[in-house]
Amino acid sequence: MAPNTTFTNNREVESRYDEYVMSVWKDLDVPVERAEGCTLEDFDGNEYLDLFSGISVANVGHNNPAVVEATRDQLEEFVHGCSYVHPNAPVAELAERIAEITPGDLEKSFFCNSGTEAVEGAIKLARKHTGNTEVVALEMAFHGRTLGSLALTGNEAYKKEMAPTINDVAHAPAPYAYRCSSCDGECTTACADRIEHVIGTHTSGDLAAIVVEPVMGEGGIVVPPEGWLERVQEVAHDHGGLLIADEVQSGYGRTGELFAVEHFDVEPDIVTQAKGIANGLPLGAFTAPREIADSFESGDHLSTFGGNPVACAAALATIDELEGGIVDDAREQGEWLSDRLGALESSFDVVGETRGLGLMQGIELVDPDEKGPLGVAAAPDDHLAKAVSKRLREEGIVIGVGGYYGNILRFQPPLTITRNQLERAVESLEAALEAEVETNA
Ligand code: PMP
Repeated sequence: MAPNTTFTNNREVESRYDEYVMSVWKDLDVPVERAEGCTLEDFDGNEYLDLFSGISVANVGHNNPAVVEATRDQLEEFVHGCSYVHPNAPVAELAERIAEITPGDLEKSFFCNSGTEAVEGAIKLARKHTGNTEVVALEMAFHGRTLGSLALTGNEAYKKEMAPTINDVAHAPAPYAYRCSSCDGECTTACADRIEHVIGTHTSGDLAAIVVEPVMGEGGIVVPPEGWLERVQEVAHDHGGLLIADEVQSGYGRTGELFAVEHFDVEPDIVTQAKGIANGLPLGAFTAPREIADSFESGDHLSTFGGNPVACAAALATIDELEGGIVDDAREQGEWLSDRLGALESSFDVVGETRGLGLMQGIELVDPDEKGPLGVAAAPDDHLAKAVSKRLREEGIVIGVGGYYGNILRFQPPLTITRNQLERAVESLEAALEAEVETNA
């Protein structure tokens, strides 16, 4: 099918971006003319192996044929009728399906268009249900960029010149074991106890919610220690609040389970979802048990486009694909990848730690000649991660760069990635690290 634009090369697209698109990232990624599976193609005809799935979105592969077909079928039926005013089949079916696939008693969903809206809606629901206003989130956390979720986002850099955000938000230490001062030696759940300390010192003590990412994404792929999430829920409940698990990035198979909370012994009170839910169509959701969800009375929350029937049809097809074996594959591929990446810790001084679950893996690059305050090699700025990612780009591979210090390489490919593609990616990563270390020697 012919594309509906007239651009014939990358430069033409990039120049329009420079001139007409607002707030564009300063290190632009590759322009994309088309995408399929794990492959992106730019306007100059170059192909790239995508290790980042957009930003961790195309979990069942770019342009997954089943998702495309479901989307097209629904487009031909009808595109819009506000889903909170006109009941429609895709919303009804998706809500029922999410009740089946989410853990525990999570049963009723509200649909919106993005992750940040899902987080904001979840906070409103927690406030309405508990009658409390205060929310605790984690340092290093990312929950979105609209003013409410920006208040929860722990990285102050995102808030520069944007304050004031919403009130009644306090931040507690993240379970970032690699650079953590909560425990002496052996990792315990002391950082969860520190959340209780923050509640005591920085809030009125009456909590609406504690919001956490079960595996932190933008903060640098941080997996909490065993028992941490369970303890956080206990702290939330002890103070009258709910546990909101923000699964916008970790959900829909990313960590080798449909939801990352399934790795732990916890049933969250509200789960937020977006990104992978509809494999790229704009959809967000938050889901809660009936007794919490019913705290919203008719009209308490609404979104014109939320629960768009086309996006919901895409989500239903995405869930079918995930349950058809893709999540199991992701778990297996993740184990292989985690072993291969783990080996980099001994072969490269600049690799401080590799960590993750499933196909959500991070590589923390360090400055081995500089010790940080905890005796761990200091986190460099984003220079090294960007240089390695640039070398990979030249080899036709797109990798994510992120983390609180900008020093984390992020492997979050479509879950359909093959072993051969992963092997190529790891070999190219080794070569890029070697070349960069040599250049800086
Ligand atoms: N929560 C988490 C955990 C995220 O990773 C993100 C996006 N990176 C968001 C919320 C915000 O999602 P969106 O960009 O769709 O608003």
